[in-house]
Amino acid sequence: MEKGFGQMNGSSGRRRQQAAAGTVLSLIRSGQARSRAEIARVTGLSPTTVAQRVDQLIDAGYVREAGMGASQGGRRPRALEVDPTMGVVCAIDLDSENAAFGLLDLAGRLVAMRREHIDITEGVDPILTRMVRTADALVAEHAEPGQRLRGYGIGVPGPVDSRTGALVSPSRMPGWNGIDVAATVSELTGLPTVVDNDANLMALGEHELDRGIADMVFVKVGSSIGCGVIASGVLHHGHHGMAGDISHVTVPDAPPVLCSCGRTGCLDAVAGGRAIVRALTDDGVQVETVDDVLALAKDGHPLATRMLREAGTRVGHVLTTIMNFFNPQRLVLGGVLGEAKAFVAGVRSAIYLECLPMITDELDIAVSKAKDKAGILGAGAVVLDRVFELHEFGSGQ
Ligand SMILES: [Zn+2]
Repeated sequence: MEKGFGQMNGSSGRRRQQAAAGTVLSLIRSGQARSRAEIARVTGLSPTTVAQRVDQLIDAGYVREAGMGASQGGRRPRALEVDPTMGVVCAIDLDSENAAFGLLDLAGRLVAMRREHIDITEGVDPILTRMVRTADALVAEHAEPGQRLRGYGIGVPGPVDSRTGALVSPSRMPGWNGIDVAATVSELTGLPTVVDNDANLMALGEHELDRGIADMVFVKVGSSIGCGVIASGVLHHGHHGMAGDISHVTVPDAPPVLCSCGRTGCLDAVAGGRAIVRALTDDGVQVETVDDVLALAKDGHPLATRMLREAGTRVGHVLTTIMNFFNPQRLVLGGVLGEAKAFVAGVRSAIYLECLPMITDELDIAVSKAKDKAGILGAGAVVLDRVFELHEFGSGQ
């Protein structure tokens, strides 16, 4: 995913220097290291090299000293923080009908949010041009004077090839197959842009809130189903970006509903929000959206509640294999259906019934804390890391 801004990199030596300064900046932003001593411990760089990097970052205005940190037994170290005033980044969480926009300062704090209705089938150019216009409007309204826009992070509702950056047969984005969204947005704006699958970025956003969890599976169940995997503390893409895609796992004994992939009985086709809406409509219940289904369940509608629970059981059944195989510390249920108690109960019951106690004893099954901000926080984190990595620190570097 070096697309669109690869030309900013110089020689490999220079890239290494920048990456080292960028890594230090990312560690300070994420709170993984708050002093020179902690940076040395986390990176393995020598104290002299760390001191040089930090001086460069302070001279460039990216980092400032923020009083004294906690003592580790000796003299109290000077605490470091990213100076948020140097700029902002725009994070966008795109689905087929909505776009959520977030503006984050360079310290990663969410400054403003906005949601817009979109129709993804309008096509690549109209949608991306409009997204850029909305981002510019957000910056004009909410950024401080001098805080210019530094980059874009975008989550898309389809598989992204992590080697080429191209969307791969995105069933919910007709007309977008093969499009490199990062390169297109970079061309439009001249800014570094990082694009990834929405569920991957939601997993990352959730992880930003609790970095102590090393192994985590995040399942997004909204109108459709997606999944992102955090392994040993980092987002796991697999060989080319498809890791975690559970939408087309066949559910045994499921009704033979035709899936977008042309097969029947896929998890997405029998347990996603859209599937529940269709099943209820077929039974004569008046619903149009997943929110309608949740509202019915909250009012104690028996059929809506049963279908949510059944969908949860099917998702839980597929996740059982993943829990056994991957042994995560936490399974997070996100997306709109994560808010439905019957759905969550269905997932839990299947996992506790089908997994061995050695897996479930230490497994935390939780509802997303980041909620509807998960995708924004994840997109913000990846673009901040990219911006830090690309910036040239100091004239001598
Ligand atoms: Zn399928």
